[in-house]
Formats: sequence, C-alpha cells, structure tokens
Amino acid sequence: MKRILTSLFIVLSIILISYISIEGLQPSATYFKEETEKSFSTANAFNHVKRIGSQPHSIGTKAHSKVRNYIVQQLQDLDLEVQTQKGYDFNNNGILTAPQNILAKIKGNDPSRSALLVMTHYDSAVHSSPGASDAASGVGVILESIRVFLQSNPQPKNDIIICFTDGEEVGLSGAGLFVKEHTWAKNIGLVLNFEARGSGGPSNTILETNTGNTNLINAFAEANPQFPVATSLMYSVYKKLPNDTDATVFREVNDTPSFFFAFIDDHFDYHTAKDTPENLDIKSLVHQATYLQALLPYFSQVDLDSLKADKDQVYFNFFGLDIVHYPFSFIYPMLVFAWVIFLGLFVYGMRHKILDFKQIGKGLWDFSRALFFGILISATLSDKLPVIYDSVLENQNDFPFNGHLYIGVGVSLTLAILFYFYRNYSATTTEKNKNAFVAPLVIWLVLLSIIAFILKGAAYFIIPFFFSLLSFGLLLFNKRNPYLHLLLGVPALIILVPLVQFFPVGLGLSKLFISALFVMLIFGLLWSVMAYLKYKKAGVLIFAVLAGFLFLTAHSQSGYTEDRPKPNSLIYMLDVDQKQATWNTYDKTLDAYTKPYFKKDNSNVDSVVFDSKYNAQYTYTSVAPLVNISAAAIQVEENRLDNTFTEYNVKISPQREVKRIEVFLDKNVKVESLTANEKATPNHQLPYYKDRKTPKLLTYFAVDQDTLRLKLKLKNTEISPVLEVYDASYDLFENETLNIAPRDEKMMPRPFVLNDVMMTKQKIILE
Ligand SMILES: [Zn+2]
Repeated sequence: MKRILTSLFIVLSIILISYISIEGLQPSATYFKEETEKSFSTANAFNHVKRIGSQPHSIGTKAHSKVRNYIVQQLQDLDLEVQTQKGYDFNNNGILTAPQNILAKIKGNDPSRSALLVMTHYDSAVHSSPGASDAASGVGVILESIRVFLQSNPQPKNDIIICFTDGEEVGLSGAGLFVKEHTWAKNIGLVLNFEARGSGGPSNTILETNTGNTNLINAFAEANPQFPVATSLMYSVYKKLPNDTDATVFREVNDTPSFFFAFIDDHFDYHTAKDTPENLDIKSLVHQATYLQALLPYFSQVDLDSLKADKDQVYFNFFGLDIVHYPFSFIYPMLVFAWVIFLGLFVYGMRHKILDFKQIGKGLWDFSRALFFGILISATLSDKLPVIYDSVLENQNDFPFNGHLYIGVGVSLTLAILFYFYRNYSATTTEKNKNAFVAPLVIWLVLLSIIAFILKGAAYFIIPFFFSLLSFGLLLFNKRNPYLHLLLGVPALIILVPLVQFFPVGLGLSKLFISALFVMLIFGLLWSVMAYLKYKKAGVLIFAVLAGFLFLTAHSQSGYTEDRPKPNSLIYMLDVDQKQATWNTYDKTLDAYTKPYFKKDNSNVDSVVFDSKYNAQYTYTSVAPLVNISAAAIQVEENRLDNTFTEYNVKISPQREVKRIEVFLDKNVKVESLTANEKATPNHQLPYYKDRKTPKLLTYFAVDQDTLRLKLKLKNTEISPVLEVYDASYDLFENETLNIAPRDEKMMPRPFVLNDVMMTKQKIILE
C-alpha cells in the first residue's frame, strides 16, 4: 500500500512540477496592481491595442494613416516632441516601399552617451490581419511604459529614442530607412525591440549581437526582469537561422546590439484575420511589459557603450531564480568533469559486480527501441495529419488551431511507448534497474559532447545531467530514496519540459518528433524515479487511452468554425497583351468560396511565384471573364551607354488603386545596376542581383499610388530583354461585373500570399 501511495505521490509531483515549469514562465494577467497614476496599467496598454489593432492597417492603407495619427497624438499627450521620417527604402531582398516612421526622444543629461532605442512596428501584415498582437501589443506596452517612466524618472542619463517603425511586415523597410538615413541612428548603444509571432504564450528574450553576449547577459541579469525567459539555446539556434526582425537591420548595418522580446505561441493567428484584440493573451502583453518595466530604467542609466564583449556566456532561466549564467569557457571542463564522474561510477559498479555488460546491453536495447519507435510514431503522426485533416493541410503557419492537442497526442504516445519497453522492469528488481540507467546516461553524455562543439548555447543541459549522475550514484551505493530521487529530477523537469512544447510551437507541427525526443531524454534523466514506479504496464494503457482521448478531442475540433476559419484565396489576373483573364488560387482544396471558379482539373496552373513568406505557388488556374481594368502605364527610355552597356529608364505609373507592383526579368539577364525611385540596390555586389535565383527583379509596395521609376543598367545582348510587370489592387470584391460572393463566416483570407486582388500583367520589351 505504501508503495502505491509513493508511486501516486511521485506521478502527481511530476505532473505538478511540469505544469509549473511551463506556467511559471509568465506573470498572471493581473500582475500589475495599477494602484496609482505612476504604476503600469494593463488596461491602458490594452486600450491602445484595441485602438490600433481592431482593423487591418498594413502600409499604404487608410487605416494605417489613422493608426499613425493616433500614435503621434499619444506621444504628444506625453509632452514629447514627435517627428515622422518618410522616404523610400530598397532592401536586400529587392523590396521597395515608402515607410513613415514615428520618432520621439527623451533627452538624457549626459550628451556624450549613446542612446537607448525602444522599438516596435506599427504596420500590420498585408492584407487582412488587424495585427493586435503583431505588433499593436508592442505599441501599447511601449506607450504605457513611457508614460509610467516619465512620471517617475524625468532625468535619464542616456537619451531614450522611441521608434515605431513602418513597413516591417513588407521588408523591415522602416528600420532600414531609419538606420541608413536618420542622424539619430548613428549614436545608438542598444535596441529593445518588441514583437509577436502568434497571439499568446511566454515572451522569449533573444539577443542580436555581432560580438560576444557576455556583457549583455550580465546587464540583463542585473536589470532583473521578473519573468525572464531567456536561454542561450535560443541564442544559438537563432544565430543559425536566417532571421528577420527590425533588430537585425540595426545589427547588420550599424553593429548595434539588441534584445528583442517576442511571444510565439498560438501561431495559428499570426498574420491572419484572427490576430484581433480578443485573441491576444493578456498574459503575453503583461509579460512584454515586465521586461520593459525592468529594462527601461536600467538601460537609461548604464553606459551602453560597454555592452560589447568578445566572449559568450551560457544562460538559462530557472523557475524562482534569476537568470543563471556562466562563461562558454566552462563548457569543456564541465563536460570532462561529467565524463570523469560517470566513468568513476561505472568502474565502481563493475568492480562491485553491480553493473554487468549483459544487463547494460539489455537496457541499451530497450532505450534505443523506445527512442526509435517514439520518434517514428511522432514523425508519422505529423506526416499523416495533413493527409487526414484539411485544417492541417490548409494551415499556412504549420500550426493549426488544435495544434496543442496534437502535441498532447504525440507526448502521450511517446510515454506509452516508453512504458511499453520498460513494462517488465519491476520496482523490486533493483539490479536490473541500476544497469538500465547506464543507457540514457551514455546517450546523454554523447549528446552533451556533440552540443559542446556544435550548439554551445544548449550546454546548460549538463546541469540536470549532473543531478541524474548523483541519482545514479545513490542507486549504486544503495542509498535509494524515492523522494530524494524525485528532488534530483526537478532541474530536468524545470529546464527541459517547456522545450517539449516549445519546439513544435516554434518550428511547426511537422517538428513533433523533437517533442518526442525531449520526452524520452527527460524520462532517461528521471530513470531512478521512473524505474521504481509500480504498475508500468498500466502506464502503457493509461497513456495510450490518453492519446486516444486527446486525438478524439482534436478530431472534434478539426472542422472549420467562426473561431477556426478556413483560409482561402482568389486572385483575378488580366493578361493585357494576350487579352485573356484567369482565376487563380493558392488553396489545396476547393471550397464553397472557390468552387464556382475552378474545375477539379489543375493541369494548367500559372507558374508565377510572387514574393511571399513561403514562396507559395498557385494550385489552380482557370479562365475568367474579361473585365475592363487599367493596367499601369509604362514608359521606357533607352540610353545606350557604350558597346557593353545600355541603361533603361522605366516609369511604371499605376492607373488604379494599386498597392503592389511586381517586376520580373529573365534570371539569366545580368543586372549591372538598378535604382528604384532613386534608391540604389543596397549593395551591387550582393548576389541577389548579380546571380538571381528567380526571375523576380523587385517588389514594390506602393504608397499613395506613387510612380515606380527604375533605372536599369544591363549588358547589351542580341535578344532584347523583356520585363514582366504585374500590378495588384485589393478591390476584387468591389468589382460589379465579377460580382464575387463573399466568404462565409467560417472562412478567412489566406494569409501571407497575394489575395482578394485584381491584377494585371504586361510584357515590355526593352529595345
Ligand atoms: Zn511583427
């Protein structure tokens, strides 16, 4: 009876600690007490979110101007002098637009110091997203934090620049404009940037720096935010990925380091019509605010020029503690120490005939099979979900509305598999259990050794490993105590359990196998606890049933509803030269909205690829009626420079409310130089124009229907080069001839791609 109660206590404790490890990352929604005028008010911040993020306000729209005016007014109400900066930015990826940044400065009392820049963007994603999380939440937090700051810290040492960038969503354009052209940008020591890539979850701290992170981390720890979610694992992974936030522009162009804070859960809302104030998790908003509450007063005083460093640190957050951090130089000694302890224990176990190779081999065989099948089943699950469920297939964020339930299914299946392979390890066969601990420890050691070389930011995984080694030692010395073993497993649970959820949320449901891997690795570290649980066979059944239950729940939520709408798309394209028109869509399955326009047959799909996050291609093309819409007026002026080069001046003037122009040129035509609206290509040496991988020449997000003026220098060739020009207006529903039936309430515009547009296409021969 006592054993059963102990087992029950241990299982409940593991569940509770796991829960705390995730829930403890974030403050509660009512964290700020709002007692006086001087304290941060969540209601004030959320009110800004509602004012800004209730309707789509992407660059160039009327709502966008309204949002800008609102923010300018708010800053003026704080007695700040506000300026806007407008100009063209032509970025490294061939995106041209005319952002209008909003700027204000709080003067510091030491003019020799570098300034602190607090930043987020105020434009929402093109086309249908109200952008309440991304990034009205950032604007709300900054406006309210500045209000509070001004009430209590009227005299900072450093200048504080507040920068609400524009055109972030189309190509980090406002940040580009500010960094390249504004005089204030030359003298910035640190950037604090606020972002969202979903509508909930904890806000992660990510560092952007060209140098080592040591001083940044020391300062961050000293500033002492109350809910730091910051790990060097994120830092290392982020450094390896191609990244794109406004903060990146500051680092790349001006070598300015930054902290950026982003919540990324509920990724299904990202850039969709569902990024509304109602769907923003208030806890995420509050979490963002806790960072700024600590960092703004701190970084307004310290010398920001001292933040650069040669060396890196390993760091991680741990429930109830401040940021734990130590130098990268500790990584190898700690690893050697771990190997030495393990080998010492191993030799001791062998000498005293506690361990033997046959039993160890058996343990290794069981753990390896569990690893293999755990990963296989999770990978198969994430592979098959889009085949079974339309809502997974059509979800462009690789994280459907019921994604968390699918993670639950994967985790439960993995646990069922683990208990299956360990079902015959009885709580009383202590020798066998001791030998079986060797397998996960060896696998962990190999993993930690690899990490020490190729993913140093994850080196802190060694800390829970040390506790497991201690646990292993206690077993060998016959000092077994289930409660003590549980205690030694706490670091593994606190540090690693959040990652079980984090990876499929961050990288997409297709990476579900990483969850499975972490579950099994945690199980391995907790072996001295798991081994002595009673009723392992029942564990197989319990977790299999739980997986089934979660799957059925997910199944019941896999249809489309008003809250979980189906994304779809319809594009009307008029080929001006051919006098032909087509319907196009990016949808994989046709629905009531798209069916009237397409036949099942999709053998003749237009292969054009417009600039979009996932470089999506049309899935269906069909013939459409001809409608009289005016294509952009194009003028070409040719100027033969010499025997080698010719310069072309091309003017493309929109004739409708065009929001976007795409220009293509055969990718084999070498571009010698290109300017667009007087902005040169950022760097002529960039491979982008020298060696284009696609025929795309540039994408222009038009503001106020401004004419696009290209100056193009090409090598003379026998065959005249041909420009293909597309323009797009977001007025498909307004066309009376086409008379498009609106979407029903269980549908929404497909995000990321061109959608709900009327386009024209024309070819211009440069001769
Ligand atoms: Zn954003």
